Amino acid sequence: MPELENRIWMNMLIAGAAVAAITTVVIAWNSTQKAPLVKTRNRALELLYEFQHAAATPLHALRQIAEHMAIEMRAGLRRGGKSNLLMLPTYVENLPDGDEEGLFYALDLGGTNFRVLRCLLGGKDGRVLKQEFEEVSIPKALMLGTSAELFDFIAERLVDFVSREGEGFKTRNGMQQTVREMGLTFSFPVKQQSVKSGAIIQWSKGFDIADGVGADVVALLQSAINRQRGPKIEVAVLVNDTVGTLAGGRYWNEDVMVGMILGTGTNACYVEHDLPSHVQSGSGEMIINMEWGGFWSSHLPRTFADEQLDKESLNPGQAGYEKMIGGMYLGEIVRRVLLRMEKEASLFGGPVPSKLKEPFSLITPEIAKMHADESKNLRVVAKVLRDVFGVQKTDLAARRIVHDVCDIVIMRSARLAAAGIVGIFKKIGGEAFDSTDSRTLTNLHWDSQEPQQLDTKRIVVAVDGGLYEHCTQYRVYMRAAVNELLSEAGAKRLQIVLSKDGSGIGASILAARHSQHRGANKITCPMERPSEAAERPSVHLCGGNSSSCSQHTQSELPPRSTQFTQSEPTPRSTQFTQSEPQSNWLQATQHSVSYVYGLEYID
Ligand code: ADP
Ligand code: MG
Repeated sequence: MPELENRIWMNMLIAGAAVAAITTVVIAWNSTQKAPLVKTRNRALELLYEFQHAAATPLHALRQIAEHMAIEMRAGLRRGGKSNLLMLPTYVENLPDGDEEGLFYALDLGGTNFRVLRCLLGGKDGRVLKQEFEEVSIPKALMLGTSAELFDFIAERLVDFVSREGEGFKTRNGMQQTVREMGLTFSFPVKQQSVKSGAIIQWSKGFDIADGVGADVVALLQSAINRQRGPKIEVAVLVNDTVGTLAGGRYWNEDVMVGMILGTGTNACYVEHDLPSHVQSGSGEMIINMEWGGFWSSHLPRTFADEQLDKESLNPGQAGYEKMIGGMYLGEIVRRVLLRMEKEASLFGGPVPSKLKEPFSLITPEIAKMHADESKNLRVVAKVLRDVFGVQKTDLAARRIVHDVCDIVIMRSARLAAAGIVGIFKKIGGEAFDSTDSRTLTNLHWDSQEPQQLDTKRIVVAVDGGLYEHCTQYRVYMRAAVNELLSEAGAKRLQIVLSKDGSGIGASILAARHSQHRGANKITCPMERPSEAAERPSVHLCGGNSSSCSQHTQSELPPRSTQFTQSEPTPRSTQFTQSEPQSNWLQATQHSVSYVYGLEYID
């Protein structure tokens, strides 16, 4: 009996020991399995914090950047002044006043697509009566070829577009007699000799056409147009996209003083009254193209990803500010951070997906999509990672890290752009509205009469570009940073508006302003409104050849803004409302959104 008891006890002991042993193994196995995960996740977080720290834009740094921007602007304006801003005189000294009238064209070249548009201007009463545009993508080979190849391609498409001018665009003299005048928006640095000529200084944004540097871009295009058979087209003005945006904005709102691009690249221009003696202007003012993409300051927060991107770019050591802000680069910065996280911390569980190693495989619209993902499980992030990099499975923690990287990169871009705007604001007279200035910290209101010594005229910044237009959070970050940098009164004084497609429309308005054939281009009857059907702008989206070109009406396009939908046919009101034009602009209050007369008021 005791022997049986002993055996039972022994068996129980053995069973217990076995259970304990298995448990230990399981625990040990589990811990060996979890250890790398915990370790790699910690490393990924370490990399995230490191990147976040390196990319940080605290208020004190933004203040220094804004200050530095204003200093560089002053230096760049002086003859022989040393500055990283080119501060190019544009010879645009007569800005639109709303009287411009007639049919004018524009060609907008400055990214991977170029755009041709026709615009029927109706003067103060009609404004933009009707517009139509086509977008054509430029084959990669032409971006690296010869200037003749590039401009012949463009001229062919332009002439084709002009030849398809519809009845709704009839001018007084009809097509045969009339020269078509055009504004050329050319968004690369150009040294202008007049309002209709300028030598290309350098290429950027993926273009590298050696024989173009130093050549007059208007002459290149005009000769290519002349080589085509078709309607007579003359380039009336040469502008940069920022100048087009400013001019387009000014057509609607006389307080627009700054034009800015936040698209593939970034740049800004503004109206300068304090011109240096070597820049002559009959009107006493001129638009200055800053070429701010080339701005550099030691206060700019540079990360390992920026350094790598710059080193491997077509223009290393140049366009430092643009490479932190422009839409061409944001996705690529995120990709480089994720690649490092995958290599060093197995963010997606390895092996490194080949697409993740491919430069520019992640484009900015995709990071904007991930950034806007508000789902609990970050479903959109998972989908983009799957679609772009082929990463089939990701855990939530990894997706959160990806989301944070997108946020850091988008926020940095928006805040740096805000610092640039405040730099311009300081230069053109907003010095007193610095948030550190005690005079303005008291209860000073926009409509207050005091203090008398402060200039309280509103300054409106017209912004065009896909990054600003499509990424809502970008606007919020940018506005918040401007508000941080300025006093309450200063922030109220500075208004930022979206000038959708302003760069192209602005160029056609400037062509009207500088027209040599003004009478001939007048519309059939200035007060005549096109028919209902004609009122809606129609849009063509094209590939590289005419066979892939198809016409789209406004309703078929993806929503171009929250306000610009078919159910709210704003185009009609933006083009035809003849009552209270100016009062509408001024009614735009902070935090309200309205799309009025071609400008969208967001702040
Ligand atoms: P460009 O600057 O070449 O004249 P756009 O003003 O249309 O052209 O801007 C295009 C750029 O805007 C793209 O290269 C991209 O970086 C950015 N972009 C386009 N769509 C979005 C989006 N949905 N979210 C964020 N950025 C976008
Ligand atoms: Mg553009």
